[in-house]
Amino acid sequence: MTGRFAPSPTGPLHLGNLRTALVSWLAARRTAATGRWLVRMEDLDPVTSSRDHEVRQLRDLARLGMSPDGEVVRQSERFHLHREAIARLDADGLVYRCYCTRREIREAASAPHDDGRPDGTYPGTCRELTAHARHQREQQGRRAALRLRTEGEIHEFDDLVLGLVRGTVDDVVLQRNDGVPAYNLAVVVDDHLQGVDQVVRGDDLASSTPRQLHLHRLLGFAPPAYAHVPLVLGPDGQRLAKRHGAVTLDDLAAAGWDDVSVARLLLGSLGLAVPDPSRIEPLRVTDVLDAASATFSFATLARERWVLDPAALDAPPAHR
Ligand code: GLU
Repeated sequence: MTGRFAPSPTGPLHLGNLRTALVSWLAARRTAATGRWLVRMEDLDPVTSSRDHEVRQLRDLARLGMSPDGEVVRQSERFHLHREAIARLDADGLVYRCYCTRREIREAASAPHDDGRPDGTYPGTCRELTAHARHQREQQGRRAALRLRTEGEIHEFDDLVLGLVRGTVDDVVLQRNDGVPAYNLAVVVDDHLQGVDQVVRGDDLASSTPRQLHLHRLLGFAPPAYAHVPLVLGPDGQRLAKRHGAVTLDDLAAAGWDDVSVARLLLGSLGLAVPDPSRIEPLRVTDVLDAASATFSFATLARERWVLDPAALDAPPAHR
């Protein structure tokens, strides 16, 4: 079993990210003898990603007892591999150049249509451009993104948390118009090349999975198993974020939380057995994780989204 956690190094990990990381770690390490847990930095975007964030993310994972087996891989160093996959799809006639701006796509996608496309999907404006029309757009200085040619294929998968998920594939972007490989393509290529057979990630990505399954199929890869973990929400019902308050390990440490108490908080939020600190002394974070991994099962994992009010974390449990 090879699992992975694939954060984007665009800021510190918050409790929601750490909770997802923990599930991916537990799921991979529950077979400690053979299970491997990898970390991949999804630093495709050079503007928002940074090495400082990467270092801090790895440090915070290690503080909670999660250290990757093997080298940390950076997507920014693998563009040649992503482009090779795009070239293979292109050789099969499955790639076309798209000159649309974001605004044009937004407007066209929100315009009323009755052709059966799900709302918000790319309307296919550039699918059948003539050489002349392409030339005209290039003369206007427009740069092309590369899109996958699809035919409304439907994919379904049995998610380890969500159960059966089904979705229609659209003409997903493979390479952005600045030449950077796009997320859906890169994630498929890297999961395959790294031998990942179990993907654990936030449930906001479940709707992207049919697209990724389609790419796996077109590229002849065996897809991994998927587990989409419910996101953590702030008290306003929105996805947990920095603006909600003290949500990083450093924030919590400043409020008096030690790493073991944070690990116990996260395990408890997942409905997993939390070792009792009075029974094991001194309790180290690795003891907590090892105990949890021995009993981990997707079958008993909490399926509800966790609503967290950072104001309630102003002091660790023992100090209340
Ligand atoms: N890099 C993505 C994120 O940070 C996760 C991608 C994935 O796990 O497939 O949300």
